[in-house]
Amino acid sequence: MQTKSLKLINEMSWQHQLTNAITDPKEFFERLKLPSELLPPAILASKSFALRVPEPYLDRMEPGNIKDPLLLQVLPLLAETQPVPGYVIDPLGEESTNHQPGIIHKYHGRVLLIISGGCAINCRYCFRRHFPYSDNQLGTEEWQQALDYLNRDHSISEVILSGGDPLAANDKRLNKMFQDLGAIPHLKRLRIHTRLPVVIPQRVNSALIEAIGQSNLQTVIVTHINHPNEIDTELASAISKLKQAGVTLLNQSVLLKDINDHSDTLAMLSEKLFEIGLLPYYLHLLDPVAGASHFNVDENTARYLAGSLCDRLPGYLVPKLVREQAGATAKVPLMPILGKEC
Ligand SMILES: *Cc1c(COP(=O)(O)O)cnc(C)c1O
Ligand code: SF4
Repeated sequence: MQTKSLKLINEMSWQHQLTNAITDPKEFFERLKLPSELLPPAILASKSFALRVPEPYLDRMEPGNIKDPLLLQVLPLLAETQPVPGYVIDPLGEESTNHQPGIIHKYHGRVLLIISGGCAINCRYCFRRHFPYSDNQLGTEEWQQALDYLNRDHSISEVILSGGDPLAANDKRLNKMFQDLGAIPHLKRLRIHTRLPVVIPQRVNSALIEAIGQSNLQTVIVTHINHPNEIDTELASAISKLKQAGVTLLNQSVLLKDINDHSDTLAMLSEKLFEIGLLPYYLHLLDPVAGASHFNVDENTARYLAGSLCDRLPGYLVPKLVREQAGATAKVPLMPILGKEC
């Protein structure tokens, strides 16, 4: 009896972590012993895009270190509030490919479904930081419309669940979605883009594993990890459960100034990803979203960094360097520049 209830508590704890993520800048500053002069700007910047950091992610930061690579991904800064030419609200022109609520159909054969408005963590560089989530909630009726859309178009072989974070949805809802999607004859694959198992590893619970196991679609999960410090034993154990469930596991990263723009960091990231069972998939250039210009790494530097990864790692540990371009038919690859220390 007792073990059963303990198991239940453990299973529920991800939702507890999700709802109890730290959102108050003052509390955040106290917890991490950050310099108080940075607090007023943090409060200001968090007014347009809230601070949100779940405990298990905060636990991986070093208190008092304002250069901590995990801290820098979530700390609201004054720079965000200052307009920079070229950095806009909807850098990918998603509004124009947003045919009906929750659906983004840009690339051949793949449709992106925005099933959740929320994220477990708010990453300051996020290209969707201004996305109109409230117009894109998939309620029962919109879900049916999305299924109709997928049923009509036989060129679609893959559905990508995105967000927000799709794994912020509860297990019952996900299970229903997996079943409904599995009933579409021409669909082959279900892909989930998520950061939840990274920031709250407890999210990978037995109900999720069961739902994946019951689906007749091949499942691919693309995690979003930017720095080796994000990888700990809890994450490793979550990834290992997914692997045992037969999921194909990939990771994408965003190249971020002062966070991972060094070949040692990127090489170590690839090594550590592989150690826990993830293959590097994409390394994205930053999308020019308003408020994120201070994270930008220019294209040439990015190509040198990618080149130095080619020079020191096996090919399968080198992520593809890409840029997303409004109107393009695919993510646009950038050629690595080889042979230069970086
Ligand atoms: C990135 C993206 C995809 C997936 O592209 P892949 O190259 O297959 O990973 C699909 N649809 C949209 C709208 C995207 O932004
Ligand atoms: S969509 Fe991804 S990058 Fe953006 S805030 Fe959510 S978890 Fe972070």
